[in-house]
Amino acid sequence: MPIHLKTLTGHSIPVEVPTTVTLGTLKAHIQNAYSIPENSQKLFHSAPLIDDYRTLENYSIPEGATVYLAVTLRGGAFTPTTVELAEKYKCDKQVCRKCYARLPKNATNCRKDKCGHSNDLRKKKKLTACPPKIAYKA
Ligand SMILES: [Zn+2]
Repeated sequence: MPIHLKTLTGHSIPVEVPTTVTLGTLKAHIQNAYSIPENSQKLFHSAPLIDDYRTLENYSIPEGATVYLAVTLRGGAFTPTTVELAEKYKCDKQVCRKCYARLPKNATNCRKDKCGHSNDLRKKKKLTACPPKIAYKA
């Protein structure tokens, strides 16, 4: 029976499958045809189609129905990590002792006019963990 696979990008892919095909087989077919890995495919009709061993008949998907295909995203952190980026843009800095302007770590003079481009700079202090709170006993 013909069914339509609709991707989230709006493309509709006509697929000819028997009613007794399992979702696992259908996903394998999609993997072969469109090189989307089986484990990152999610199929939806009126509800998520979860069990790969079930057939289209089990889920009572009629002929010519539209089955939605979503592709899951891989997790993980970006490189450089957000911590490294935060340290680069917020922590590895110098501070003007006169006007407290935050300057790049290799700066020799302040960029601000109000302190007369002072060369009195210090490294920005490192963040420290909060000291443990002392429990107050009444
Ligand atoms: Zn300054």
